[in-house]
Amino acid sequence: ATKGNLYPVIWVEGASCTGCTESFAQAQTPNAAEVVLDMISLNYSETLSAAAGYSMEEAKEQTIEAGDYILIYEGAIQEKWGGNALRVAGKPGTEHLIEAAKNANAVVALGSCAVNGGWMGAKPNVTDAMGVQQYLKKAGINVPVVNVPGCPANPEWLTSVLVDVVLMKLKPADLDLNSEGKPAGIFNQTIHDNCERRGHFENGEFVYEFGSEEEKKGYCLYPLGCRGPQTKSNCGVVMWNDRRSWCVQAGAPCIGCCEANPNDPGQNWVEVNTPFLKR
Ligand code: SF4
Ligand code: SF4
Repeated sequence: ATKGNLYPVIWVEGASCTGCTESFAQAQTPNAAEVVLDMISLNYSETLSAAAGYSMEEAKEQTIEAGDYILIYEGAIQEKWGGNALRVAGKPGTEHLIEAAKNANAVVALGSCAVNGGWMGAKPNVTDAMGVQQYLKKAGINVPVVNVPGCPANPEWLTSVLVDVVLMKLKPADLDLNSEGKPAGIFNQTIHDNCERRGHFENGEFVYEFGSEEEKKGYCLYPLGCRGPQTKSNCGVVMWNDRRSWCVQAGAPCIGCCEANPNDPGQNWVEVNTPFLKR
């Protein structure tokens, strides 16, 4: 049941690896327990709830019936075979989404899978995986969707959306979202704009090979396929694991997880990551 006056939230997983839940569970500032126990009433989560089974399903149904809640949806929708490409608790996964979304004040599509199918939708996409917004539109469910991509999504991004809606009492329609339904303050700047290796990019100092002298010097990773210039997200500012590091700082070229859409022709993850600069 909903705790006191706290804002009810239900967290449903579709075709997911649970990485976005794991990412959130590691959050330190504020830590996940503070968010889940003091800021919201998390009435249902397959991974984070202490209870399980019928009592949890009941809590979810009661929350949906009462209305005035937020749905966090993690993972892709798999539409193939009448939604049975992902069958959960005896029902097509698509039905679980429709039931949970239709009475919600807003849906937070959490992680790249939920935003556009993520790697679940990679070619040849045999299960017709897609994002929440696309599926709800097809199903005629009219509910505001906030897209928070990332593989996994950064926990601070989810917390900032929850702060806006729960603590600042903003209506979903008043959130500052960009044309893709992503929070503009987080997803309107490129990785490249805030990258600590940017000076090397401007100086033409590049890493062409892992294990090279250039790599040791921390040069720019563009020739290795870094998608930082084409990817909009503030990873280099909020960083990961309690603001310790992030992909590019750790020496991995940005793969564009916040941007790549496997359902867009020409946006194949292999194609976009093919190295294109030679020494
Ligand atoms: Fe897992 Fe990435 Fe999908 Fe999140 S976006 S559920 S981390 S595959
Ligand atoms: Fe840009 Fe990537 Fe080079 Fe950073 S490592 S400066 S994001 S191309």
